[in-house]
Amino acid sequence: MEYWDQKNECMSRDEIRQIQLEKLQATLHRVYKNVRHYRKIFREVDFMPEDMGSFSDFRKLPLIDRRDLSENYPYDMFAVPLREVVRLHTASIHFEDPIVIGFTRNDINQWAELMARNFTAVGVNRDDVVQIAMNFGITTGPFGVQVGAEKIGASVIPMSSGKLPAQVKIMRDFRTTVLVSTPTLAVSLVRQMEEMNMDPRSLSLKYGVFGCEPWSEAMRAEIETRMHIIATDTYGMTELFGPGVAWECPEKSGMHIAEDHFIPEIIDPVTLESLPPGQTGELVLTSISKEAFPLIRFRTGDITSINYEPCACGRTHCRISRIFKRSDDVMVVRGMSITPAQIAQVLARVGGGEPVFQVQVERRDGLDQLTVLLEISNLNFFDQMKKQHLFVEQLHRELSELIGWEVAVRLVEPGTFDSDRKVKDTRRFQ
Ligand SMILES: [Zn+2]
Repeated sequence: MEYWDQKNECMSRDEIRQIQLEKLQATLHRVYKNVRHYRKIFREVDFMPEDMGSFSDFRKLPLIDRRDLSENYPYDMFAVPLREVVRLHTASIHFEDPIVIGFTRNDINQWAELMARNFTAVGVNRDDVVQIAMNFGITTGPFGVQVGAEKIGASVIPMSSGKLPAQVKIMRDFRTTVLVSTPTLAVSLVRQMEEMNMDPRSLSLKYGVFGCEPWSEAMRAEIETRMHIIATDTYGMTELFGPGVAWECPEKSGMHIAEDHFIPEIIDPVTLESLPPGQTGELVLTSISKEAFPLIRFRTGDITSINYEPCACGRTHCRISRIFKRSDDVMVVRGMSITPAQIAQVLARVGGGEPVFQVQVERRDGLDQLTVLLEISNLNFFDQMKKQHLFVEQLHRELSELIGWEVAVRLVEPGTFDSDRKVKDTRRFQ
């Protein structure tokens, strides 16, 4: 078994607790001093950083979420002056509640270390050629993959999310051994290979590191069988580095959280009470090594459970189960986070009034599809076919532009929806 950082990845539970406590105390002092928002919410519960003696004190601190981050947009959550920041990213350019995340030089180095651990854990080393089929843009994903792969000395192809035939051609010509992408893109690539009459076994591919969206064991089996690779899951989010928060080892039984960088907790998303290990609830993370943008008790919105049992790989960091659900109404589709509020904005702008709608998410042929169903009740031209057609066309165009791919739009009769849920997700993840 290869480790990138055996000392830190395999330390005892006592050592983990000790490191977490020390780094947490330092982080709390720093954010109290430098970030007005934390100072305010700590004072509201009468907490001073020097009060932090144990993890039970820590659990009295208020939770924060994405709203806190966007209310302090752009730079008020930064714990260092802007001149210390070498990189700026955002979670999504489409969010109506924008968030900006900063990295110091040291943050980027830490990120590379974490991704180097991820790659080493799944068997990647300096002899590998890593094709990053993710969009290099303002979100963090591919950048973390790149620095991590370069850290271990692998050869990186920053392919971005280009056209499928080009991906396959580069894969063949550059003798790619590792594919990093969303799992749905991997399925599309296999299909593309089949269309080009190319046997995946004729390529050099060995591993796939997939993330950014929920996927199932069935999908893993499909990718592994058809692409002839070992496929593993990786987890992260832009607010906390991006990828490099947790990842699977070859045991493929949960993702190890880098506990010397993050303190994980599970809460009940309704009562907000802490839940004991093993119970399923919302994952809350505290970053204890980030300089520019540390987050204290951040609600990720992801539903999972934590397993502290030892893992056969020898790593001692706890594992989270695969993530299929969220506690809020964010849809993670084709690697993108989309909220019904974003859809509603477009519907209201184009159609006027208060739109009654439902977004259906389904997976067809391994690809996530969105259909927006809009009730025609508040439209005054539902009997004029031509106008109706133009209206649907405009919605289709604007929604597709917002989301980044073709979104289907259908008008439905009033009373069609059996609940007021804005999202109906029929993808099967288990
Ligand atoms: Zn393991």
